[in-house]
Amino acid sequence: MSLTRADLAALPSYKPGRNPADLARELGLPEAIKLASNEVPFGPLPGVTEAVTAAALQLHRYPDMGVVALREELAKQYGVDPARIATGCGSVALCEHLAKATAVPGDEILYSWRSFEAYPIITAGTGATSIQVPNTAGHGHDLDAMAAAITDRTRLVMVCSPNNPTGTAVRRAELERFLDTVPASVLVVIDEAYREFVTDPDVPDGLEIAGDRPNVVVLRTLSKAWGLAGARIGWLSAPEPVADAVRKVITPFSVSTVAQAGALAALQQRTEMQRRVNVIIGERTRVAETVRQWLPEVPETQANFVWLPLGDQSAAFGAGCEKRGVIVRPFQGDGVRVTIGTPAENDVFLAAAAEILAR
Ligand code: PMP
Repeated sequence: MSLTRADLAALPSYKPGRNPADLARELGLPEAIKLASNEVPFGPLPGVTEAVTAAALQLHRYPDMGVVALREELAKQYGVDPARIATGCGSVALCEHLAKATAVPGDEILYSWRSFEAYPIITAGTGATSIQVPNTAGHGHDLDAMAAAITDRTRLVMVCSPNNPTGTAVRRAELERFLDTVPASVLVVIDEAYREFVTDPDVPDGLEIAGDRPNVVVLRTLSKAWGLAGARIGWLSAPEPVADAVRKVITPFSVSTVAQAGALAALQQRTEMQRRVNVIIGERTRVAETVRQWLPEVPETQANFVWLPLGDQSAAFGAGCEKRGVIVRPFQGDGVRVTIGTPAENDVFLAAAAEILAR
């Protein structure tokens, strides 16, 4: 007899990237390189450490549960009403709250696959059923097939753009057509965790495209481009009734005092954030073009990672990189996701990839 739900036994566990200190010790190297979690490698933005340190003096107090100052700052910078904004301990927590706020056992949550590995875990957690629509041959969302897969049980549709782990993004016309087709009773979430890395002008800004559509939510995070993965804050912009429902199911006080202070400081550094993101974008082009010499099928990426569709070779490629001191993220049978690091880190990765792939 199990004390926990029997259906959880079939659920894959979320795999965090391997700890670089452990790998370095194992290999006898001074350090290992982690290109497995889509972090931006340049440290916190200026002023963030100071803001977090100052906020630490209040650690004996609960945080502001309404996250008022930060929501107001986000509202001002992004031109949305603060009443539409909800924050969470990372946007992954907000995905969970959205699932909880929309679906009950028997309902369906629909998403493209392969996409963010948290989606199936979150869906199963609510007791809803995952409906996975296969990616196109080009590793992107098949929005027409997703629209066709909506049933009267569908409560939530996740659109991940740029898509983790393939880096592909949906284009304006196809997304507009899709949103026009989705029934008003189904909530669509556009997960834009990697929005800041988008360079293609035909990849729409979710906040713009959502506009005042009553069934569209946009998810953003400060964990990636804004450098706050260690003090997580995600936020969403939703029609007010949806934002209200999300706030009802949120874990109380889950956005910490230091995270709120760090986020407020980070948001004052938009120019520096963009400068850092531009370095990553330049490196993304270099890494993708270099890897395409050996693997021409690497899809165009709009995120801070590249997808190597290595199929059955994925685990072996991941192990080969680890042997050379680089941690990447293999999805066995499918592909390998490699985060863009500093130029020096990318050089080490490319040297490893050359040895493994050019054989
Ligand atoms: N959405 C996507 C597509 C992601 O890749 C991630 C991070 N891996 C998240 C959401 C969540 O990021 P966080 O919870 O740190 O905001």
